[in-house]
Amino acid sequence: MRCTTIGLRPIPRRDVSEADRGLPDGRLLLGLKGTISELELHTIRGRLTAGLLSKAQRGELALQLPAGLVRDSSGVVTKDPNQEVQDRVVLVFDSFGQLRTARKVARALRERDLALPRNDRHDEVYWARPTVAAVTSMLKNPAYGGAFAYGRSRAREAALPTGRQTQVRRPDGACRIMVRDRYPAYVSWATHEKIQAMLRDNRADYMHLQTRGVPRNGTALLHGITWCGECGHKMMVRYKGASHYVCNHLHRQQGVPVCQGLRAARIDARVAAAFLEAVKPAEMDAWSAARSAERQAGSALRHAEAQQVEWLRYQATLAERQFNRVDPDNRLVAAELERRWEAALVELRRAEAALAQRDGEACDAGSVTLDGTCQRL
Ligand SMILES: [Zn+2]
Repeated sequence: MRCTTIGLRPIPRRDVSEADRGLPDGRLLLGLKGTISELELHTIRGRLTAGLLSKAQRGELALQLPAGLVRDSSGVVTKDPNQEVQDRVVLVFDSFGQLRTARKVARALRERDLALPRNDRHDEVYWARPTVAAVTSMLKNPAYGGAFAYGRSRAREAALPTGRQTQVRRPDGACRIMVRDRYPAYVSWATHEKIQAMLRDNRADYMHLQTRGVPRNGTALLHGITWCGECGHKMMVRYKGASHYVCNHLHRQQGVPVCQGLRAARIDARVAAAFLEAVKPAEMDAWSAARSAERQAGSALRHAEAQQVEWLRYQATLAERQFNRVDPDNRLVAAELERRWEAALVELRRAEAALAQRDGEACDAGSVTLDGTCQRL
């Protein structure tokens, strides 16, 4: 159908002047131009996204790297040449293997004043106080398992009146594109997956995930691993008076009477006896394995502390050199540099004293006899 037959005529190619904006022709032209520009923008964005995804599929997209990995000018990713950074990353993973919760790893590091390497937006390393969130984010990062992961979070429309999008993590470490063996790994992929399973299991979110939850303090032996024979739900431990294993899931959900409650002492005694009977032949092996694992974890922490002291010593020497180099008549600068030198020395002395004290404690602990440890085991 020709335009003329329905009463339309082509719009001449020209810009819309101030005077035209009030006329029907001018307004039509403006509307069309706006729609075409919007379409162009959409096409450009689509092409850019396709290019980005294709690069991600090949694992070549220069994503931000976690501490411990660096990208050189040619785009090749290697481990950070700073041995202290490397060792601290390894220490986090080793400690998690021993302690099994991110909270305990963060606490162990904090107790020894060991900082955690983190990368800022420009991939520069800085040392931060170890928090549970930081440790968890390291443990969850697939880059340490050698994998390139793109799209670990997705955009979600915010419920805010501004309508701005927010980023939310995809559940269970899922991501849009995953390419394995792209980076030098700190842990094997199998270990990475095992760690993710442990982290998931640690969440005491029985209602949604039905996991065991992390073992907590208390005398009951079977905390988190007792399941009701009547209804099949996980039993809670009640420490009011004597310890009890109580099945109150349906009671809490539906208000029906408590399913069953059993005194913990007798069950625990039977379970402990059965366990000790079963492990008797392997007792010595288990003891030596436990001791060797404990020694290994201790020496890794000791090594990290020694590295930190070494770094503080370097900082103090650097501050001293800067102070010696400044013109003494330049008093303002000299005073500031002297203050920094003193602060660095105080920090160094404190770290050295803490290390020496810890070494002394380790010697005392080492005098525990084999019998005593066997008994405890
Ligand atoms: Zn029950």
